[in-house]
Amino acid sequence: MTVPEPQLRPATLCIHAGTYLDPATGGACSPIFTSTAFAYPNPANENVYPRYFNVPNQRVIHRKLAALERGEDALVFGSGMAAIATLLLAHLRPGDHALFQADLYGGTHQLVTAELPRLGIGVAFCRTPEEFAAALRPETRLIYVESPSNPRMRCVDLAAMAALGRERGVLTVIDNTFATPINQNPIEFGIDAVVHSATKYLNGHSDVNAGAVVSSASVIRGLTETAMLYGGMLDAHGCYQLERGLKTLALRMDRHNENAGHLARFLAAHPAVARVHYPGLADHRDHAVAARQMRGFGGMLSFELREAGRVDVLLGRLRLVLPALSLGGVESLVCVPSRTSHRKLSPAERERVGISDGLVRVSAGVEDIEDLVADFEQALDG
Ligand SMILES: *Cc1c(COP(=O)(O)O)cnc(C)c1O
Repeated sequence: MTVPEPQLRPATLCIHAGTYLDPATGGACSPIFTSTAFAYPNPANENVYPRYFNVPNQRVIHRKLAALERGEDALVFGSGMAAIATLLLAHLRPGDHALFQADLYGGTHQLVTAELPRLGIGVAFCRTPEEFAAALRPETRLIYVESPSNPRMRCVDLAAMAALGRERGVLTVIDNTFATPINQNPIEFGIDAVVHSATKYLNGHSDVNAGAVVSSASVIRGLTETAMLYGGMLDAHGCYQLERGLKTLALRMDRHNENAGHLARFLAAHPAVARVHYPGLADHRDHAVAARQMRGFGGMLSFELREAGRVDVLLGRLRLVLPALSLGGVESLVCVPSRTSHRKLSPAERERVGISDGLVRVSAGVEDIEDLVADFEQALDG
């Protein structure tokens, strides 16, 4: 690519940013560099090795994701959890304190509650910018949020969170998996670091496990030192598959946004549905915040059945939409959070966080919307 990246728009960056231009063949695609042994000494005096996060296919992803998220640099990992765990462990020391949003991805929640205290790191959970501000201590060194969050798509005010962190010199981190860089660029609102489960929308085809962190060059430099030791890298083949997926990210997100919006409106009007949670709906609690900071409202939504006892009938009758875990692939999926991500909470705790037994989460795929609506319609009417 010879046009400077800042002048290019997201759909173009998805395709071109970072591509390894092979001088030997002039091929349109990055070749897969399978080596784990690279010549040394070499002119750059660089020790090239996959676990050092510096082989060509990893660099393709670093450049593409940095360009898409408008950061200076990025690091690709073998899973979203590898990215999150490495970032937290690289930044936090015994005696430090960190603030986390209350509704977190299940794996992150377990990592934070089981592992960080064991290492002498204090943690607290908050819901609003006011709660975060009140919970800050002199030893607080990290603020971590998700927006939109699972499974009710609550959104946090990114500019407010970034200002809070900046004022106190605290690193602000967001898990941007649900929004993707097509719908939301947290770094533009002042957030310091963005993490992704690239397993979801970034790859988009439910066939690669990967993760990433995008941030400033200095944060990524420090993170790389720790990441090399923990060893959670993604190999060249995985990187190539992820690069291939990323080329259509903008295209896919347009359809995910459109299909989820359409399904949300259809479900909201259906007599068997009590409530729909989608940030694009005017009656969503965080619609105003979402409209301020998102360019599209994403492919994730959830809805509550009037009769929770009908959940199994619905799951059993769906013919096209697959009851399955995970999200963000081209195929539409549904799951029941009270039985999956939030099964470890007691019924009373679930009630408190608004996860009823009749709550169904939908990852709207990119199928024809008429077929998706027809499938939900026949399943709900049954
Ligand atoms: C899936 C997911 C993760 C974890 O990613 P893995 O790739 O499964 O390790 C983290 N955050 C969110 C929001 C997710 O959906």
